[in-house]
Amino acid sequence: MPGAIPRNLIEEISRRVDILDLVGSYVNLLHKGNKWWGLCPFHTEKTPSFSVNPDSNLFFCFGCQKGGDVFQFLMEIEGLSFPESLNLLAKKVGIELPSTKFGFKSDNNIRTALEELYAKVAGIFRWFLQSSPDAGHARDYLSKRCINEETAERYKIGWAPSDGEWLYNFLLKKDYSPKFLADSGLFSLKSPKWSFFVDRIMFPVMPDIGRVVAFSGRSLSENTPKYINSRESVIYRKSQQLYGFAQAKQRIRQSRNALICEGNMDILACAQAGVEEVVAPLGTAFTRDQARIIGRYADSIIILYDGDDAGRAAAVKAAVLAESIGLLAYAVSLPADSDPADILISQGAAELKNMIRRPISFFSYLLNSLAGDNKLDVNGEFQEKALDKLTPYLNAVDSEIRREGYLKQLADIIKADPITVIREYRYRQRKRRAVPFAKKSESIPIDDELYLMTAVAVKTEHFATLRQRLAPEMLRNRKALGIYRIMDELYADDEMPKTETIIQLLEDEELKKYILKNALAGIYDENAEKTITEKIRTVKMRWLIEERTELVRSLSANDGENEQGNIARITRIQAVDREILSIRQGKND
Ligand SMILES: [Zn+2]
Repeated sequence: MPGAIPRNLIEEISRRVDILDLVGSYVNLLHKGNKWWGLCPFHTEKTPSFSVNPDSNLFFCFGCQKGGDVFQFLMEIEGLSFPESLNLLAKKVGIELPSTKFGFKSDNNIRTALEELYAKVAGIFRWFLQSSPDAGHARDYLSKRCINEETAERYKIGWAPSDGEWLYNFLLKKDYSPKFLADSGLFSLKSPKWSFFVDRIMFPVMPDIGRVVAFSGRSLSENTPKYINSRESVIYRKSQQLYGFAQAKQRIRQSRNALICEGNMDILACAQAGVEEVVAPLGTAFTRDQARIIGRYADSIIILYDGDDAGRAAAVKAAVLAESIGLLAYAVSLPADSDPADILISQGAAELKNMIRRPISFFSYLLNSLAGDNKLDVNGEFQEKALDKLTPYLNAVDSEIRREGYLKQLADIIKADPITVIREYRYRQRKRRAVPFAKKSESIPIDDELYLMTAVAVKTEHFATLRQRLAPEMLRNRKALGIYRIMDELYADDEMPKTETIIQLLEDEELKKYILKNALAGIYDENAEKTITEKIRTVKMRWLIEERTELVRSLSANDGENEQGNIARITRIQAVDREILSIRQGKND
């Protein structure tokens, strides 16, 4: 993959990136021994198995086995390709990449061009809302919703003109090709000159400040769907983006908490009430990917959904997802049939903030709605139904203590014996218990050769010695030989092979993981030289013995047939015997 890019440039970028700084902006890292540990951002866990070693500039998770260098980290966490990750880090450390030389995938060029286009179009829409005489009704709409200019600017709110062909003609004049515009997602599939968004309030979707990947548009005319969102594209996967994320990120990280609302206008309302850690899923139910994104920055989530039935059902799904990835779920109960945007209008920013700042545990929220459902006609059937209703959430809670507390709370509400309720819950659990998830075990058989070469791949300073004592043909294990060849090539290029480079060049994913795991576990840290020297002897000895056996075999098979050849074989056997003897006596060859 990195073949077309000069290796020394990749290494230079990697050298200048502080891996603790990079990973630390996503994961809380604590110092322990000579490594740093944190909760893995790639899988759900309660105790840290994710480690970073600043000496080797590598990371590895002992839980889910993800690992690699700084580029790999960024690829995994931001969903980038290798060239994108390289580009981003190069920019960060101030190294200019002459991008045309590198033969980057055209995909990457398209992404960059699309993001540039979207940012430009967001600016145009913003200008329209602020300055166009045609946008009066759009400005009226926002002021009726009590959205002020400061909030509109913070979220770069705009207006897509009523003239559906305006944008196309404008961009064409700016030298965009019809083909590029047709693929941009900004225009109708049926009539390519017609804007996808017409006479709408425009909400740019920004994963980072200044980066626009999609739009969400709220209709201002009759007879059109109220909200539409950009189609998915190379820069936009709706299940992986949250509306308001760029603006909320820093505050979420500081408060370790995020608020989720259902709609874009709710986000603006909350932000205007001074609550900045607020995001919304984009025209879909809250997804696991979105929960994971939040989980990288926060420990808890407050769900602030509409007070109607649909809102409550969606809130339960969101809470189950949040808990299942380890986020503590809270809720804010809103009066029935109102959302944060309504409350901003009817009761003002201060009151909205007041409500938001008084969240209750999600379980209490469920109990409240249960009590609201049934006017205390408590009978056996109701008790059973109550447990049914709460079970999905209870199952997602990853704490036996909390769950038991909740079940006791439930027993109190439904006027049942707590022990019976707990017993009933457990009985149901046993009935539905699924086959436990089987952990994938180590799949590479590690022999002496592979052990040796993986040790040298980590402790690369011993490669020079290894190269003197072992020739590549002495390795029978193809994986071990693969590592040898890569290191040999790097060495021949006058480079001291680096573990991260070896990992980049290796194609065997299992082998990469094995090397990373051992590097981060520090298993070669002590006695590396001794271990490597011993393994070199073992491998060489086995090779010599095999060679000797082969020589003896061919000597007896060809007996007398070729005098010259036999003399050579005998001479070689004697040489092999001397080598074996010197290894046995502990003399290095
Ligand atoms: Zn992990």
